[in-house]
Amino acid sequence: MKLKFFNTLSKSKESFNPIGSTVKMYTCGPTVYSHAHIGNMRAYVFMDTLRRTLKYFGYNIFGVLNITDVGHLTDDGDYGDDKITKAAKQQKKQPLEIAKYYTEIFFKDLQTLNIDTPEIIARATDHIDEMLQMCISLVNNGFAYQTEDGIYFDVSKANEYGKLSGDKSGNKAGARVDINSQKRNPQDFALWKIAKPNHIMQWDSPWGASFPGWHIECSAMAHKYLGTTFDIHTGGIDHVPVHHENEIAQSEAFNNCKPANFWMHNEFIQVDGGKMSKSLGTVYTLNDLKDRGFFAMHFKYFCHTTHYRKKLNFTFEALKAANTSFDRVLESLSQHRQSNIKTNVDVLKDFKTQFDSAIADDLNIPLGLGVLHTMLKLPYSISVFELALQFDAVLGLGLNTVQVNAQKCSTIPQSIADIAKARWQFKIDKNFIKADELRKEIEQKGYSIVDQKDSYEIQLLDKK
Ligand code: AMP
Ligand code: ZN
Repeated sequence: MKLKFFNTLSKSKESFNPIGSTVKMYTCGPTVYSHAHIGNMRAYVFMDTLRRTLKYFGYNIFGVLNITDVGHLTDDGDYGDDKITKAAKQQKKQPLEIAKYYTEIFFKDLQTLNIDTPEIIARATDHIDEMLQMCISLVNNGFAYQTEDGIYFDVSKANEYGKLSGDKSGNKAGARVDINSQKRNPQDFALWKIAKPNHIMQWDSPWGASFPGWHIECSAMAHKYLGTTFDIHTGGIDHVPVHHENEIAQSEAFNNCKPANFWMHNEFIQVDGGKMSKSLGTVYTLNDLKDRGFFAMHFKYFCHTTHYRKKLNFTFEALKAANTSFDRVLESLSQHRQSNIKTNVDVLKDFKTQFDSAIADDLNIPLGLGVLHTMLKLPYSISVFELALQFDAVLGLGLNTVQVNAQKCSTIPQSIADIAKARWQFKIDKNFIKADELRKEIEQKGYSIVDQKDSYEIQLLDKK
């Protein structure tokens, strides 16, 4: 089946034809100075779904995800403090301690979301030399120049600067007119910054003690692992006007060819119809959702209900609705799993074609979920269960491991079923203390849990 993806660069859906036998893909990773929020996680659910879709259609994939542990300043441009250094000062720790701590939590979050991790995880601080060499080369070939506070990329030398966002007006988000600046053009951006003596993270360079800017890391690491032109570059929509525009400009100036054929971007998550906001307390993490009784997989299912290029409005009501719908899928699946009946091959083929066409068309996962729901309404059959598991290779919902024996559960009060489900998730997360606490709670209420290989049953406690 022919795959089509929306390319931000051409602003249209294009047929996907990889350059070589393995699809090469770069994803902008997190800046590890605090917990990743659910908006960040949408970007990685999108990355995961794209990787899974490519694999589902038989492609080999080689992906890179970077970890920004230096250089991302507090205003996303060339001003303010380094985000990690700022967090380190606040928490009285070393910057790399902060980065390590939040990187570990980030990967735990990916794991609970059943996210397929890219082949290369590249930390910026492990690639200072590659970044520095790129920067020196850009100075030497005339695309970059030195000011008092750093090395800047001269956007007036990049003829097509602004082509990704379509904004060549000079008014884009990253542009600042700073009267004290020696920048030649307001949109020029820092490749390298001279470090003030008290700046914690600094390295030697031809310009003295200094540190890299944010954008250069992705160009340098993509070049190192994926070569000059690779297949797909992904990230959140906020990266289009600044970070990715800058990446394209500096990579093209360095390699004299385009860095990626496809630029794919996920839209933002909003909360209660607006921007996530610290002051309103709406910058939720997966842990915040867990505290309210929702698990990572509910959130992933919730992400799947809206196309990745559409804004996704997060409310707890919407998450609860997604949760209910996910439960219906699980309960129906467990019935199909127990059946010995086989469904007509042509009927199944038709569902598979519908599902495949949906996801091949720029990852229309909501439509794919609709196909799954309709298929589950067929008379109970083991072949429906098996095809659903094939679909799950794309959805990544762990449908084979999360299940409840629905028949037995139907006689169990919902409140008990909810606690049992929460306990099962704690068990999957290896939080055995919490899992045991919930088991005791269930037993005090007159029920017991019997674990099986990858499911569980709730039974009435024998009171004799
Ligand atoms: P950062 O750690 O800020 O570099 O962001 C990591 C990833 O999350 C990037 O791809 C961002 O574009 C993406 N991102 C940030 N906020 C949101 C949001 N509210 N919704 C979706 N993606 C987001
Ligand atoms: Zn990046």
